[in-house]
Amino acid sequence: MFEGETIQIQADLPQGDHHRNLIACQVACPVHTDARGYVRAIANGDFEEAYLIARGPNPFASICGRICGAPCELSCRRGKIPRTDDDGSFVALDRPIAIRALKRFVCESYGAEARFPEQILQGLRNHVPQIADAEEMSFLLRAATRGTLTPANDENIAIIGSGPAGLSAAHDLALLGFAPVVFELEPVAAGMLAVGVPEYRLPRELIRREVAVIEALGVKIRCNSKIGQDLSFRSLRENFSSVIIAVGAKRPRALGLPGEQGPGVYGGVDFLRAVALGESLPLGSDVVVIGGGNVAYDVARSVVRQAAYDAARVAARLSATRRVRLVSLETLEEMPADTVEIREGEEEGIERLSGWGPVAIRRGEHGHVVGLEIKQCVRVYDEQKRFAPQFDEANRQILDCDSILIAAGQAPDLAFLEEGGSDIEQFRPGWPKVDPVTLMTTGKGVFVAGDLAHGTRLLIDAVASGKKAARSVYQYVTGRALHPETLMSFVRLDRYQRERGYERIRRVELSTPTPRERLQEPTGQVEKCLTSNEAMREATRCLDCGVTPVFDGNRCILCGGCADVCPTLCLKIIPLSALKPTPDIAELLGSELGDDPNLEENSAILKDEDRCIRCALCVERCPADAIAMERVSFQTEWRTA
Ligand SMILES: Cc1cc2nc3c(=O)[nH]c(=O)nc-3n(C[C@H](O)[C@H](O)[C@H](O)COP(=O)(O)OP(=O)(O)OC[C@H]3O[C@@H](n4cnc5c(N)ncnc54)[C@H](O)[C@@H]3O)c2cc1C
Repeated sequence: MFEGETIQIQADLPQGDHHRNLIACQVACPVHTDARGYVRAIANGDFEEAYLIARGPNPFASICGRICGAPCELSCRRGKIPRTDDDGSFVALDRPIAIRALKRFVCESYGAEARFPEQILQGLRNHVPQIADAEEMSFLLRAATRGTLTPANDENIAIIGSGPAGLSAAHDLALLGFAPVVFELEPVAAGMLAVGVPEYRLPRELIRREVAVIEALGVKIRCNSKIGQDLSFRSLRENFSSVIIAVGAKRPRALGLPGEQGPGVYGGVDFLRAVALGESLPLGSDVVVIGGGNVAYDVARSVVRQAAYDAARVAARLSATRRVRLVSLETLEEMPADTVEIREGEEEGIERLSGWGPVAIRRGEHGHVVGLEIKQCVRVYDEQKRFAPQFDEANRQILDCDSILIAAGQAPDLAFLEEGGSDIEQFRPGWPKVDPVTLMTTGKGVFVAGDLAHGTRLLIDAVASGKKAARSVYQYVTGRALHPETLMSFVRLDRYQRERGYERIRRVELSTPTPRERLQEPTGQVEKCLTSNEAMREATRCLDCGVTPVFDGNRCILCGGCADVCPTLCLKIIPLSALKPTPDIAELLGSELGDDPNLEENSAILKDEDRCIRCALCVERCPADAIAMERVSFQTEWRTA
């Protein structure tokens, strides 16, 4: 700054949902799981408490521990804190807490993996949270037990589809006093979790056990019941008080390529389904997978495993003859697949051609696939980040192959609406018009949930949407609304202390078997569970964003010690004249300083919330006892009017 020049600093006053929003992991979770709460419970060695917090709002906690897309980790503040070396210079941003792996760790001891359904439900009913920051803590389970809800008295609700959306809706409807019946066309329940996600990422026994907890609440699941074939949609509407359609997006999207129709070309999700159900699809020995996302990797890695398995079974060295290539429009940097999938896929022998688009499928004399023609993609997205691929038409090649699997998205199949669903409008073919608040369609008493409601997303989005549909059905059928009542408390923590060196601990690396071991056991789990030492150490890294330093301006002597001691430089003391006042700051200054504010002589302490690591060194250093650590807590109870 030059002499005479002032820099105006823009700052915001904390208000409204400020404190709640600081707990970014919880805000990011579609069901508002108190991830911070269970991570801190693990750091304290209280593993059962951690499980109960994690399971409270989420009937798929154990499955999420294995495969959740973990939006909580994406927003974790630890991943945004700069790591510096000994001389204070920037090295890199730190990495988020391994929240999903920590969830798996507690589920393995206290979840569906280890306990009977009634034990789990009893634990949840009795659970009085020690760390109560959750917005939907234990949600209806506690409300139902404590009698704050008027039950719906056994009204029958039909749910089409037993995926995470349908089963989460059924779970909450059962707690609300309904008798939900779930109709599922497949021979097994759980939707894409059972017939999409490969077993090497999600054990089948775990799926069965998690579903059994939902059944223990009285939910009936009728497998092998296809609506539109075994039972009409009209009959559901006639015989049930309300219907939730949660059929997901099961139909693989076709690309419309010349040569696409015919033998040797399959949808990626059809292939995964066949593997999951032990059915056979006649794949050749040279396979190309089209797609650049996680589903494409699930497909390609399953082909590799099938190949290794076949080779072992016939005791011949056939695996070398099966080649698996993955062709994606996106470059490596742009590919939507997770980095870990790309890396592990490569280790397992998948060859990647990034930045190529399919042109045509070549077929031989007898109609069998002989190749895939591709051309170079020079750009996938336009300036507005819309999908608008451009190609170098001159740069083409043909990949010789005998089988092609297409993993380029899925769409719903609503053919069953033909009988009894003519009032259900679609905004484009296959996608019903939905009220975003209630999830009701234009058909009276018909709701939707999951991928069908919001497009293909994550498992936890489907869970959240199923729960939302259940609440709307409750209101629709009983005429009573469910009210969330949030209590907020601020507790001063007088002896708050962080674990020594927590800010230097690096994120735990999850151990995996070698690629060779992985392929030798095609259904063996690729990701191992954390040990209790690893889990506690990792949990110790959590910044505990629900705790913040608060400043008492009347006691502060402006010594600047807090700013000096702060290891992340998140505190600044500035003259008020340097502050660019927003209207609410101006109002505050008016009420604090009266008519004659001498801005030069008064100061403000600014805090950068993104950088604060809750170390409490400022509290320790303050000679005037003007700073205290405070825990902000929320607790929501559900009631009926
Ligand atoms: C291969 C694959 C891997 C994935 N991996 C992950 C992951 O690792 N992490 C993650 O967070 N998300 C993942 N997802 C996404 C996640 O699985 C979905 O978002 C979620 O399953 C959607 O839930 P849903 O209940 O809406 O639909 P679905 O899970 O698709 O369930 C719909 C159910 O309805 C049934 N059904 C359809 N039509 C009828 C009918 N006419 N009559 C009766 N039943 C019917 C279907 O058989 C199906 O069981 C993956 C998806 C796929 C395809």
